[in-house]
Amino acid sequence: MFIDMHVHEWSFSRDSIMPLKDIVARAKEMGMGAICITDHDSLGIKTEAERYSREIGFPIFVGVEVLTVQGDIVAFGSPYAFQPRTIDAQEFINYVHSYGGACFSAHPFRNNNRGLEEHLGVVKMLDGVEVLNGSTSLEANRTALEYSRKYNIQPVACSDAHKLEKLGCYATWLPEDPRTLEEFIQVLRSGKCRPAIWEGDHYRIVEDF
Ligand SMILES: [Zn+2]
Repeated sequence: MFIDMHVHEWSFSRDSIMPLKDIVARAKEMGMGAICITDHDSLGIKTEAERYSREIGFPIFVGVEVLTVQGDIVAFGSPYAFQPRTIDAQEFINYVHSYGGACFSAHPFRNNNRGLEEHLGVVKMLDGVEVLNGSTSLEANRTALEYSRKYNIQPVACSDAHKLEKLGCYATWLPEDPRTLEEFIQVLRSGKCRPAIWEGDHYRIVEDF
């Protein structure tokens, strides 16, 4: 199935203009099998998202985008959302794994001083790297793709949407259809996920772009 693993909802991401219901409706319309909410330094939506997910029977996986000292990392399974630049990237990766979670580097080469950049080649045990991020230039995304190959880090694709028009512009193909956060984390850690691009009415899995 296809899933957008990096999305901001407006309750806890002040730079987003999308409410949860609209995100889910659009994700279903695009044929996604599940959706993720990954707010900046906050897991505040978790209870409400889990309640709504049960109510409508559509998987919503809540993670968090943490700005580590070296750059942004999106994590699932972390029980805690660290304040910006208060934890080292490797420490955060280890922390997430110690709780059985999974994490990936967000927009590593975006020109906003929030990507891991060269640290991508230094940190160990990342479960993925965004080679396609919807808020990042093609050039920076291509550099991320090169790093993913050079350091053998699973490539994923996400919209990083803050508004509906952007939602799902990139998504990740999962080899299985997880229904719970735990199942989703296992799939993400499998190393078998693949980046995909929205073509207006379907997703196309890509090796290169
Ligand atoms: Zn983001």
